[in-house]
Amino acid sequence: MKPFRNRLTLIMMTLIGLSMLGAGLAMANVFKSSHIGLQEENMGREIKLIQATMEFPPLTGDQKFSYYTEKSQMFETLADARVTFIQKDGTVIGDSESDPASMDNHAHREEMMQAETEGLGSTIRYSSTLGEDMIYVAIPVKQGSFDGYIRLAMSLKEVDQGVRQGWTVMGAGIIVLFIIAAFVSYRVAASLTSPLEKITSVARRITRQDYDARVQLNRQDEIGQLSLAINGMADSLQTQLKTIRDNEDLLQSVLNNMTGGILMLSYDGSIVLVNRAAEEMLGVKAEHVTGKPYRELRQHYELTKLIEEGLEHRTNFREERNLYYPVESIVRMDGVAMVQDDGSYRGMLFLMQDVTDIRRLERMRSEFVANVSHELKTPLAAVKGFAETLLGGVEDEKTSRSFLQIIYDESERLNRLIRDILELSKIESKRIAMEYSPIHLFPFFQSLVEFMQPESNKKRISLHMEVPEELFLEGDEDKLRQIFTNLLSNAINYTQEGGRVQLIVRDMHVHEHGDTVQFIVKDSGLGIPKKDLPRIFERFYRVNKSRSRSSGGTGLGLSIVKHLVDLHHGTIKVESELGLGSSFIIEMPLLQEND
Ligand code: ADP
Repeated sequence: MKPFRNRLTLIMMTLIGLSMLGAGLAMANVFKSSHIGLQEENMGREIKLIQATMEFPPLTGDQKFSYYTEKSQMFETLADARVTFIQKDGTVIGDSESDPASMDNHAHREEMMQAETEGLGSTIRYSSTLGEDMIYVAIPVKQGSFDGYIRLAMSLKEVDQGVRQGWTVMGAGIIVLFIIAAFVSYRVAASLTSPLEKITSVARRITRQDYDARVQLNRQDEIGQLSLAINGMADSLQTQLKTIRDNEDLLQSVLNNMTGGILMLSYDGSIVLVNRAAEEMLGVKAEHVTGKPYRELRQHYELTKLIEEGLEHRTNFREERNLYYPVESIVRMDGVAMVQDDGSYRGMLFLMQDVTDIRRLERMRSEFVANVSHELKTPLAAVKGFAETLLGGVEDEKTSRSFLQIIYDESERLNRLIRDILELSKIESKRIAMEYSPIHLFPFFQSLVEFMQPESNKKRISLHMEVPEELFLEGDEDKLRQIFTNLLSNAINYTQEGGRVQLIVRDMHVHEHGDTVQFIVKDSGLGIPKKDLPRIFERFYRVNKSRSRSSGGTGLGLSIVKHLVDLHHGTIKVESELGLGSSFIIEMPLLQEND
């Protein structure tokens, strides 16, 4: 922008300078010519005056020369000019400065010829005698015995001096004016270019994506229109950009919040997009792999093989593959060939679904079915076998009674098994609703202990409870009863005769997750081997199959307990020492949060 302003200033100053110079020259010319004209007129008048005041006696020879020379010298002092008397034929007969005898014939001098034709002749000539410009004025005079010309000559020194002086004054004026003009034209140029500079700087900021930039000019002219147009452009850019960003954000949040992983590859196999779920599944960071070839995912050998095939065949497919990094998982890949509207191939889109849990559940379900069938088969086989024997005929009344007893016991067991299986599947499929109410724990456990008493009495096991009297807990009473019936009957079952079972309840006031209550069911029984501890909450898991069966267990009790504790947002753990006894420790929040 600056160069334009400077150029403008320069142009304006040159124009001003040139016009001032022209005016000066014109003025000097006018001054000179008017001054010379005036001089001519004066000299003409002086000649007329000489003519009128002088006598022209009839003289000849030397007398004539000396008379006119004397006169010319007299008039020179009066008129302050060189005076020359010249005869018609051009002979000089008197001159105030030179000897007429030594002077050339003057007939062809310019001023003479002009005087002859026009009555007054004048000319300006350089006089080598005096070394300066002279003005000569001649008038024809015919009076008395004289017929010729009187000529006056004056130096132009004064005129030139005047002109020079004029030039000096004007030169100084021109310089002053020039400085003023420079200043004014710079200001004018600046006022013309500065709004343009502002507009340009705003346009530059917009180019640098600073869309808040606006031109602050309040003008009604074309420049005002231009700044309005620029501001309008910035407005529209800003709104368009916002729309684009909003859309981008929306898309980004959709991509990032999808549970499915998305991996997009361009036709040449470079990674275009990896969403958050895919990052987690593959154990990579989008910023590290975007733009790189898919082979960067080399930890996933099976996957890269699949991608390679997908890119090669450009067809849709669905496959499952195992990933071993960052965690072992099973991923279902849906490969989709991306084809544009014009039919050109853009690359492949891979949708990834972590199916590890689904597959594990499926496996667990089929294992469960196998387990259930196996568990049901054993008592059924016993019932069938003993019934067959009875049908075959048994003489002995006592034997047939004992067979019938076995059949009865086994069907009881079947009954319990089926009841527990149904209960468990109900809990696992979350089809049961929790009915919370405040439970006064002291009477609750009192009645429970009373209910268990006959069983413990049978084995002469002492059953004690230690419960704070005024403690209330928010919970589902039926389910809570189910939990502790299971734990207490396990404790009685797996404790030898004469042993001891304790139920301890503690109010854990200060706890990082709010108030909780701790329940401990402790026995002095057989204990559980260390290796079995992590598994005893699994379905059908028994430490000792025959012992559990002889005690009537189904192997489902603890897994039901675990689920019911979970439903109360609690935790359960077990501590046991083989031969010394076991403790089942439950912690539950005092109050249930509404969910
Ligand atoms: P079961 O119906 O066989 O008792 P559970 O799920 O209730 O099934 O228990 C799983 C296994 O845990 C039992 O078979 C038993 O071996 C062991 N167990 C449970 N409670 C105790 C306990 N209090 N003392 C020793 N072992 C126990």
